[in-house]
Amino acid sequence: MVQLVWFKRDLRHTDHRPLVEAAASGPIIPLYVAEPGYWGQPDTSRRQYLAVASALAELSLRLEQLGAPLIVRTGTVIECLGRIHRAVGLTRILAHQETGNAWSFARDRAVRRFCQEAGITFVEYPQFGVVRGLRDRDEWGVLSGKILRAPPLPEPARLIAATQAPPGNIPSPEQLGLVEEACDQPQSGTRHAALALLDSFFAGRGAHYRRAMSSPLAGADACSRLSVSLSTGAISIREALAACYAARNGRAAVPLTAIDSLISRLHWHCHFIQKLESEPQMEHRSVHPAHERARVATADNDPTLLAWASGRTGYPFADACMRSLIATGWLNFRMRAMVTSFAVHHLGLDWRACGLHLARLFTDYEPGIHWPQVQMQSGQTGINTPRIYNPVKQGLDQDPTGAFTRRWIPELADMPLALLQTPWLAGSGYVAPVIDPSQGIRDARSRLSKVRAEPGYWAASQAVFQKHGSRTRTFENDHPARNRAIKTEKTAMAKRQLALEF
Ligand SMILES: Cc1cc2nc3c(=O)[nH]c(=O)nc-3n(C[C@H](O)[C@H](O)[C@H](O)COP(=O)(O)OP(=O)(O)OC[C@H]3O[C@@H](n4cnc5c(N)ncnc54)[C@H](O)[C@@H]3O)c2cc1C
Repeated sequence: MVQLVWFKRDLRHTDHRPLVEAAASGPIIPLYVAEPGYWGQPDTSRRQYLAVASALAELSLRLEQLGAPLIVRTGTVIECLGRIHRAVGLTRILAHQETGNAWSFARDRAVRRFCQEAGITFVEYPQFGVVRGLRDRDEWGVLSGKILRAPPLPEPARLIAATQAPPGNIPSPEQLGLVEEACDQPQSGTRHAALALLDSFFAGRGAHYRRAMSSPLAGADACSRLSVSLSTGAISIREALAACYAARNGRAAVPLTAIDSLISRLHWHCHFIQKLESEPQMEHRSVHPAHERARVATADNDPTLLAWASGRTGYPFADACMRSLIATGWLNFRMRAMVTSFAVHHLGLDWRACGLHLARLFTDYEPGIHWPQVQMQSGQTGINTPRIYNPVKQGLDQDPTGAFTRRWIPELADMPLALLQTPWLAGSGYVAPVIDPSQGIRDARSRLSKVRAEPGYWAASQAVFQKHGSRTRTFENDHPARNRAIKTEKTAMAKRQLALEF
């Protein structure tokens, strides 16, 4: 029996069920394939690959110590599996389920077909609290909880290598066609980094987590910063949760509310990924049919898109967020929401074009969180009250001293604080705003109202909610606009009835 453990976005040696199951039944081949086809997709980038490469190097070292070095190959998975199968005669391939982009979805289907045709058993295990083939979102909480509550699996005591083939090298980004870019030192995606982040968070770094997470400056230190290692899979979501529970029951130097907040967010991780798992088209199509009909595509060379993407819209705070993201590969949640909302609502850009650009800039790009969040923040779901963030107000609220804005927009270093977020009022030489500040908001509101007034809009929203909505809130609670619409309709009916009576 020759078994192969296929590593993908699960680059770890602990809490790895495919590895544990395979190791329990005999010799194994641990394989990672660096796929130029994947790294050529428009949502991938060099910074993401550098994080993956750091996790791969660490995993490779540990698997070698355990007895079965990681085999790294470059090419297509089907070709690599085919070659290995011809050489050793594989009987079983074990892997984690992946909720990825359309490319990896098609790749996984091809692997399933390959195994079927070659007579190889292919077993896939869930890796998050995400349920494949979920029929009813009402059942998600229980099914997901069952996965997440199980204790993390320890690493196998030892591994027996099923091949003496040379391990191979982790390719450089250039070998995968990933060229130099502005972020040359992205956050590490290793397990070592994740464990150190958890330690420092519980030792005090997370003390002001709840308050500081919305600030672009303080958030960089106060947030857990686990996302990169979660996206490479160097640490599992269950391990992160287990560390939180241990800290909760132990002697953490941070308030319990901070730990509980982190626990909720780790659950959101799976709540969002379930959406893409249940509706993979979400990567390309608005979830709500009326919003999909209203979409207008944005060309790659659209000047407004390019201004937003490079942090040159003339709105200092939005520009500072984008420039900081370009340089560091990370942005806190609120600022991610703001740059998305600003692009789609104020600037009238298509969410898909903006989402692709952000995906490439995020070192922690996780398709299952990213696309549902991009759709939510750009008002495409019909089930979340659209938040139209005003970048001027956000700048005043979240960067009250102007330190963040000045740091990333050196052109405004000498601008007085009172005018820092509205330099056009000072007649400054900074980029002129790409849109009229208040017109953008008015246009966004009018576009949204038009779509929401379409017949059948709320019935379709209800269907979206049934499929994807969080069951901790009711649809009615979450939708003041829908309630207002119903109330207006009722008042109009009452008036009509009164008119009839008279
Ligand atoms: C438009 C947009 C796109 C996003 N794209 C991604 C993405 O590609 N990858 C990604 O990991 N996160 C994404 N997020 C969610 C969130 O912004 C990041 O998870 C967070 O900022 C990462 O920093 P952290 O690890 O310090 O998070 P913390 O605040 O410390 O949270 C801990 C973990 O909880 C999860 N989490 C936190 N907030 C959310 C959320 N709102 N939704 C789902 N899970 C959450 C993440 O796994 C995160 O690592 C996106 C948010 C928006 C608004």
